[in-house]
Amino acid sequence: MGAKRPLRFAIIGAGMSGILSAIKLREAGFDDLTIYEKADRLGGTWRENTYPGISCDVPSHLYSYSFEPNPAWSHRFSPGDEIQTYFEGVAKRYGVEGRVRRGEEVTRCAFERGRWRLETKSGRHDEADVVIAATGVLHHPNLPDIPGLDRFEGALFHSARWDHGVRLDGRRIGIIGTGSTAVQITSALVDRVAKLSLFQRTAQWIMPQENPAFGEAEKAEFRRHPETMRRLHGELARMFSVFSNAIVDASSPQMKQIEDTCRANLESSVRDPVLREKLRPSYRAACKRLIMSPDFYQAIQKPNAELVTEGIECAVPGGVRTRGGRLVELDVLVLATGFRADRFVRPMQVIGHDGLELDERWSQRPDAYLSISVPGFPNFFMLNGPNGPVGNFSLIEVAELQMAYILQLVELLRSGRCREISPSEEATRRFEVERTEAARNTIWATGCRSWYLDDRGIPAVWPWTFDRFREEMARPKLEAWVQVG
Ligand code: NAP
Repeated sequence: MGAKRPLRFAIIGAGMSGILSAIKLREAGFDDLTIYEKADRLGGTWRENTYPGISCDVPSHLYSYSFEPNPAWSHRFSPGDEIQTYFEGVAKRYGVEGRVRRGEEVTRCAFERGRWRLETKSGRHDEADVVIAATGVLHHPNLPDIPGLDRFEGALFHSARWDHGVRLDGRRIGIIGTGSTAVQITSALVDRVAKLSLFQRTAQWIMPQENPAFGEAEKAEFRRHPETMRRLHGELARMFSVFSNAIVDASSPQMKQIEDTCRANLESSVRDPVLREKLRPSYRAACKRLIMSPDFYQAIQKPNAELVTEGIECAVPGGVRTRGGRLVELDVLVLATGFRADRFVRPMQVIGHDGLELDERWSQRPDAYLSISVPGFPNFFMLNGPNGPVGNFSLIEVAELQMAYILQLVELLRSGRCREISPSEEATRRFEVERTEAARNTIWATGCRSWYLDDRGIPAVWPWTFDRFREEMARPKLEAWVQVG
């Protein structure tokens, strides 16, 4: 075989996955790359989510790149600003920071004459042989359709657009939603505000989870012996595997144990039987994304906290009116109402072979072979794309495994084995059939509403064990891939 084909890469998004792809590409000897980032700062979800109390509910020593352990983590579950600092630090250390074009949103990406032509909002053009879409999973805020929100006279914002100019201390705060975000905000704010009203549409199961700080001696030990952190990373990954293997089998004994723990937490933590029943979900634990919290039940029982379970009728200038006609007076209203989980790379326009538009292909719902790539869109790969393992696992490990897989495909382009590679329609269809079939046996399909479910009510996630995901990512089955040129 002759000289290796030089390849140019465009990475879209400078969050956890975008930074990772640049590091891994350079490690593999690909240096011609640009990361396009629409914001003025990298960090992705950790740049955008700055609400009080934000932390990651995956232990920090697992929620770290495997090749870049961090002895400085302050807590078992460290706060968001530390995570943001970590990603910025890694990007700097690995020389990736200088490859990021900030303030450049890619609006169009078209495969023409064997290359991807990119266009940004500012009118810049670029070309690349390979595109890696690292555009994130939970990125577009879901804004609730509550009448009157525009008439509310207090401060109003979505949790992922926190307005730090708004004073909170001593004021009346309303929070809509009871997901991981709302629970973290509630615990962080209850002692600061005059009154906290949490608007609950659906109760949540809460897994008790302590969050101890690492002492100076432990951090020093991590610094002296990085292998201790690697061991810890491995142990945590194994523990999480047990958990993620349990949730894909709704009848497993481990699942029962998780449910028992959540139930015992509710029974033992909430004194008032009326409040306890309001907080008791009517579906199985982990059907919605399981919430980890050391202190949510304590927070919601504080005298200045109120759980509002009556439906919301509308917002009015002075607060929120419930369906029963009660006015909950508020100075600040936070929409902790989640994200539009099916948006993925959109609104970017992606045009593959024969003018095929990704948005059109995905008009019903997004699909992708192994969550990585779509038929007809050659040399276009996604990290943490549609239907991947997003259920209570470290998305960093997911992205690392996917990137190692993508690099094996890219190697086929570099070596000249082919010029274009995309999954076959048949392999993608078969994967979707098997995936949706298996998804019916998971805990997510046992009767609740959640962002895991697609428009048909089928969990849009990896429905098998994480071990199976690891195996699948180890080596591409080339018969599933169409190689051209
Ligand atoms: P979420 O889990 O989707 O929760 C959204 C909440 O808003 C739900 O309680 C939902 O009620 C409520 N809601 C939505 N529309 C509403 C409406 N029109 N009226 C009343 N209530 C409404 O969103 P999230 O809490 O932002 O979390 C999203 C995901 O982000 C999590 O599942 C997790 O994967 C990730 N996250 C992780 C961490 C972490 O620590 N790692 C922290 C925060 C978030 P229903 O339940 O009735 O639909």
